[in-house]
Amino acid sequence: MRPFLDQARDLLARLVAIPTVSAEGRGLEEGARAVAESLEALGLRVEVVFGYGAPVVFAEGGEGEKRLLFYNHYDVQPPDPLELWESDPFRLEERQGAWYGRGSSDDKGEFVARVMALALFKEAHGFLPRVAFVVEGEEEVGSPHLESFVASFADRLRAEAIFWESGGVDAQDRPVAYAGLKGILAVQLRAKTAAYDLHSSYGAVVENPLYRLSRALASLRSEEGRVLIPGFYDRVRPLTPAEQEALEGIPDESEALRRAFGVQGFLGGVQGAEFYKKLLTEPCLNINGLHGGYQGAGSKTVLPASAFAKLDFRLVPDQEPEEVLTLLKRHLEAQGFHDLEVVPLEAGERPARSDLTHPFFALVRRALEEVYGVKPILYPNMAGSGPMHPFLHHLKAPAVGLGVGYPGSRVHSPNEHIRVRDFERGSLAILRVLERFFLGR
Ligand SMILES: [Zn+2]
Repeated sequence: MRPFLDQARDLLARLVAIPTVSAEGRGLEEGARAVAESLEALGLRVEVVFGYGAPVVFAEGGEGEKRLLFYNHYDVQPPDPLELWESDPFRLEERQGAWYGRGSSDDKGEFVARVMALALFKEAHGFLPRVAFVVEGEEEVGSPHLESFVASFADRLRAEAIFWESGGVDAQDRPVAYAGLKGILAVQLRAKTAAYDLHSSYGAVVENPLYRLSRALASLRSEEGRVLIPGFYDRVRPLTPAEQEALEGIPDESEALRRAFGVQGFLGGVQGAEFYKKLLTEPCLNINGLHGGYQGAGSKTVLPASAFAKLDFRLVPDQEPEEVLTLLKRHLEAQGFHDLEVVPLEAGERPARSDLTHPFFALVRRALEEVYGVKPILYPNMAGSGPMHPFLHHLKAPAVGLGVGYPGSRVHSPNEHIRVRDFERGSLAILRVLERFFLGR
């Protein structure tokens, strides 16, 4: 094993051992301190910033006219269910060429790869390139304070381009980079039709909240998955030729996914470029959960007083979570559902997509091809969400997701891991991006 991998494993082991579970508020200050120390050891000036929820680690330094910014997070998802882990989630373990532990991929492994790429750069070229880091501790709970942090620190975050938190290879071992994320709005709907649960015989004369809620839910989406709320698509930005071309360049894995998921077919029967267009660049509405009434064993004849549904909207540029909430409320009123209570569950995140024609993407593509020996795949957007919008908005710079994971990394699940070989190639790819950017070669 090369010494840089030994060093990387030591740092990753140290970070994984701190249970930085943001959902439970555990270990966050200790995690921030450990991240700060590893950045100080590189030679960066580091501040642990308080006042924006969990401490934010901000670091800057190095030499050069231009600057690159790294975004990462030190918090992790809860390790539950613990019994499904083959080793302690908070102790890094190496098995069959992979490093296991909570956060080994998302996002501590990604962070360590960046630290190692900078250390390798310094060793090879005798100086540290001009970079900055923002490492937050609330990503796994929706980054509720990051937007205000980025707004207040905007002048100190200026950079030509941003490395987003993660990336890696696809199932065929091809490197993947991405340029945007969807936004999200999560809401709860409640139908309440009586002061308390009634004997089900009153069903003859009293409205049932589950029926009422079901009718409201049915009015929101067509069978093909099209959202039926008036105005919902008005702000969807048409795809540019570069975005369309990137979509067409994504190898079609839809059939393999269909089989792996055990689904009959995809909504609207899409496949190939249409599948990726729908998945990555169109908004959607999901019901995450629906409950109310008796769910226990056997039968209980009851007319429940209330029923609930949790929904999420995945949004694309330039939709706004707040505006979608207003449109949803207006639609429900217009359909006669003025009695339904609509409660947003989180602040929501705005969608983001970088300009694919920015020269940084061409540079990243060349660097990836050099390290992996195959043409990389560029996703104009990922289907998931994250706090990319404030960075793009305030810094007017593109963001690209690059990293060390693979589709089997079990991010957020038991036995999360990264393959050491992916870590090595992912670190070297970041090193090559830095060399091409700062040295022009
Ligand atoms: Zn993450």
